[in-house]
Amino acid sequence: MKNIETFNFQDKKVLVRVDFNVPLNESFEITDSSRIDAAIPTINKILSGGGAAILMSHLGRPKEGPEDAFSLKHLVGYLAEQLKTNVKFADDCIGVSAKQLSAGLQNGEVLLLENLRFYKEETKGDEIFAEKLAALGDVYMNDAFGTAHRAHASTAIIAKFFPENKLFGYIMENEVKSIENVLHNAKKPFTAILGGAKVSGKIEIINNLLDKVDNLIVGGGMMFTFIHATGGHVGKSLIEDELLELALHTIEGAKERGVNLYLPTDTIIADKFDNAANKKLSVVDDIPDDWMGLDIGPDSIAQFKEVIHNSRTILWNGPMGVFEMENFAAGTKAIAEAVAEATAKGAYSLIGGGDSVAAINKYNLKDKVSYVSTGGGAMLEYIEGKELPGVKAIKD
Ligand code: AMP
Repeated sequence: MKNIETFNFQDKKVLVRVDFNVPLNESFEITDSSRIDAAIPTINKILSGGGAAILMSHLGRPKEGPEDAFSLKHLVGYLAEQLKTNVKFADDCIGVSAKQLSAGLQNGEVLLLENLRFYKEETKGDEIFAEKLAALGDVYMNDAFGTAHRAHASTAIIAKFFPENKLFGYIMENEVKSIENVLHNAKKPFTAILGGAKVSGKIEIINNLLDKVDNLIVGGGMMFTFIHATGGHVGKSLIEDELLELALHTIEGAKERGVNLYLPTDTIIADKFDNAANKKLSVVDDIPDDWMGLDIGPDSIAQFKEVIHNSRTILWNGPMGVFEMENFAAGTKAIAEAVAEATAKGAYSLIGGGDSVAAINKYNLKDKVSYVSTGGGAMLEYIEGKELPGVKAIKD
């Protein structure tokens, strides 16, 4: 496989699939630029290596053809500022203007193409559309981890037109390396911490991880399905009745494989789903009828912290409680801190999935863990054990 660090970009027009799907406000100003910021090192590497960069991305979910609200032209100013160079813009990602602008592009120059999803062929993975995009560059680079689980024209199909000249950008490379590191090269003890609202979205993750981890910590709303399945009384806490069987199966599966499954023993309960609710501490399996568990309790925190501190590899997905509400955030905060402490002692820690990433950022611990994954859905499918089309297209 070609590598961005050693690739010779001299005189090459590099077609880069980036993830510039950033939120815009009503005046089309970028309200969170992190996805663009993350791609800057990749683009700079191409430019400083003597090549030119042709950037392509989707933005939002346009329904039918071009729509001003989803135009990538709104990003040109910010991108130019960050790259400290002029950025050209093609108001159609294929067709005459894209062809002319890319053909005239000089080394060190940047061209941004209009929203790929103005063509329905993009999400359909249309080969002819992919070929038209491919005609614009000499090299294909994928640096959009957020869409790597989709077999779209620009994320996967296009790669076949560059059998010798395709590679990952820095974001893709780091994401793949860190997830592979955890799934296939984990130093033991390996602990997975799963939380968040529901078991239903995490079944395949649990199944895949049971064969790999030494410890599995379960918190968040999903813990109550496990507690209820084993006969506990959980009041009005979140449970998924249709998954009780599966929860028992998981508990058995963990036992058979010698995986230590840690469930909370205590919980902070509330009389309504509200930060201003009355709250008190309860054992986890005897919650009064009209109350619901919204966070893990101090005994559970202490036990989980000990397990985390003794781990050498940690994978964390999903908050331990309703951390968006200040009164039910203590469990998530304590676990985030414990992961950071274990990392300081030499553990490798990977944080992934929207809400645990939000939690790590909220407590300013982003730089104190080993890697924070940027791709929510893509990261989850990867740890479910699926092969991502965007990764496969480059590796094959
Ligand atoms: P997920 O997207 O599945 O990772 O779920 C994240 C959401 O789970 C967050 O918005 C949390 O507020 C929510 N959550 C965590 N713990 C609980 C709980 N005990 N009851 C209800 N929701 C919870």
